[in-house]
Amino acid sequence: MMDLSNINTIRAILSRHGFTFSKKLGQNFLINPTVCPRMAEACGAGAGTGVLEVGPGIGVLTTELAARAEKVCAVELDSRLLPVLSETLAEHHNVHVVQGDVMELDLHTLLEQEFGGLKIAVCANLPYYITSPVIMKLLQDRLPVDSLTVMVQKEAAERLCAEPGTRACGAVSAAVWYYAEPELLFPVGRGSFLPSPNVDSAVIQLRVRQKPPVEVANEAFFFRVVKAAFGQRRKAAANSISAGLSVPKSSVQAALQSLSLPEKLRAEQFTLEQFAELSNALYSA
Ligand code: SAM
Repeated sequence: MMDLSNINTIRAILSRHGFTFSKKLGQNFLINPTVCPRMAEACGAGAGTGVLEVGPGIGVLTTELAARAEKVCAVELDSRLLPVLSETLAEHHNVHVVQGDVMELDLHTLLEQEFGGLKIAVCANLPYYITSPVIMKLLQDRLPVDSLTVMVQKEAAERLCAEPGTRACGAVSAAVWYYAEPELLFPVGRGSFLPSPNVDSAVIQLRVRQKPPVEVANEAFFFRVVKAAFGQRRKAAANSISAGLSVPKSSVQAALQSLSLPEKLRAEQFTLEQFAELSNALYSA
């Protein structure tokens, strides 16, 4: 069996196929042999489980997933990798490689076709240029997925997992906490990749909630309020929300007052509950 985390094996395969890395597509392939087994274990791949992988590259994580899961569906945008994957995954008959852009695909239909009644997990070393959009699409589309176990840049990992009400929180953290319970699993240094990027990474896990932890009158409006609040994160949220939503500042201040919240509260000081209460008050006003 080929060792796909061995740098010489990778170079030999890639040169045989005349492949050169695309920076634009976030192609940094894993060469640390401990990372993929750890990710595959952490995502819960096993009998009765289907795993969706985004960006299999040459298949280093895919083979670990295929060895454990019932079935793996791997979506790869770069068609130059298809002949490489045919070779590296030849022994794994439970893998289906789909060529396409994860941001464009109808994932509801894909998951239904690929996995039927299986429990579904997402496991991926995500391309850095679309980390948050991919995660938000996977969460917002309300796919029948139990968890996302993904490698992202270390700073993105910290931001994505930050709890609302803490300094590192941003609009994306609030959205993540609304849909999932995030956890930072383990760090991965830049030397674990070929080519080596100039930032470190981390694996995070988002366990998808059955139902959001707060009740909001209108979800789209709730997210507009959160996004506006973080629009100018160093300013009082009342100012940013008023500017971002084009509503009078006095209305935002009145809503804060009705909830006994201080007028000068900044976005990063709001808990998810307080964001929900504020958006509900503004929505009904
Ligand atoms: N899983 C491999 C590994 O760990 O070595 C490769 C990970 S590499 C960070 C990201 C992969 O995502 C690349 O194979 C890249 O071609 C692919 N990719 C980039 N954009 C994509 C997109 N929009 N949809 C699907 N795959 C994409």
